[in-house]
Amino acid sequence: MERVYNFAPGPSMLPLPVLEEVQRDLLCYGNTGMSVMEMSHRSKMYLDIFETTVADFRDVMGIPEGYKVLFLQGGATAMFAAVAMNLMRGGKADYVDSGNFAHNALVEAKKYGEVVVAGSSRDDNYTYIPEYTLSPDASYVHITTNNTIYGTRWSKIPETGNVPLVADMSSNILSEVYDVSKFGLIYAGAQKNVAPAGVVIVIVREDLLGNAMPITPKVMNFKEMADKDSKLNTPNCFGIYVAGRVFKWIKAQGGVAALEKVNIEKARLLYDFIDNSKLFKGTAMEKDRSRMNVTFITGDPDMDAKFCKEAGAKGLVNVKGHRIVGGMRASIYNAMPIEGVKALIDFMKAFELANA
Ligand SMILES: *Cc1c(COP(=O)(O)O)cnc(C)c1O
Repeated sequence: MERVYNFAPGPSMLPLPVLEEVQRDLLCYGNTGMSVMEMSHRSKMYLDIFETTVADFRDVMGIPEGYKVLFLQGGATAMFAAVAMNLMRGGKADYVDSGNFAHNALVEAKKYGEVVVAGSSRDDNYTYIPEYTLSPDASYVHITTNNTIYGTRWSKIPETGNVPLVADMSSNILSEVYDVSKFGLIYAGAQKNVAPAGVVIVIVREDLLGNAMPITPKVMNFKEMADKDSKLNTPNCFGIYVAGRVFKWIKAQGGVAALEKVNIEKARLLYDFIDNSKLFKGTAMEKDRSRMNVTFITGDPDMDAKFCKEAGAKGLVNVKGHRIVGGMRASIYNAMPIEGVKALIDFMKAFELANA
């Protein structure tokens, strides 16, 4: 059976060379005589894997001194609560409501303190990144750099002065260069651009550690997890190992800056086609379009369904939009080769001709 082009929003494609490497090492990692899945997380061999993974991540992400990197569990959704419990300090926080996950984050945070909705595009079906007004006395400002379901992206990161900026980067981490020093905390579920599901990465500025609410569970307490180098309890050893292979792959591609160029080109090809199409129409506002999740419709739900079905039969799978918005969404993360995007465009052309 041939591999397909998988446009799923997450879990999503992993680079083929990484899968091949993992397969090769699956029964016997190096000369250890065992699989990474069977290693103690405290063993020397696993600590080597873990430390190299953290070092490579710091390198590809360009993380300066003064920040800790954590590999936790519970996904980005657990971090919605963890961020509030660790950083809110009984005060209030600004949240920009730019999409479904941004909304979920602020709803969760309300359990732990006062949430100010600093801006929202909820009433316009999240088709753009909203304008916002920041509170000078907030404990932090929370944004979602890429809105996975609606296909929008912050093209300009807000200036928050002395107020720490917190970003959910689940769906665009390592797809473009970010200046980490602009952020107090970044978190990202790994299953979109980094690894299989089950790992969530946190990058946190050290001065923000140590103010968690007393009720904070140990495994969600960033200070306790940082002190134990993410191994307070058993981490997702295998997922972290795969993430490490992906970081090596990113380096081999020339790093994030090189991937960003390819990602811009992939998105440009697809949006150009959509903008010139008589059948397909983009749903996100042009100025805020995502490079990772390209959302589009025909305007006729039956035609959309036909498109998704026929695309799937051609090995272009999972282009169906999220259940709450419908239409189509092509998720084109780092691991989606430009050939996959071109194949999708070729199919869209043929479909348009056949259904004009
Ligand atoms: C997928 C996604 C989430 C949810 O991640 P889980 O790991 O399933 O909790 C949160 N935020 C964004 C931006 C996402 O894309």
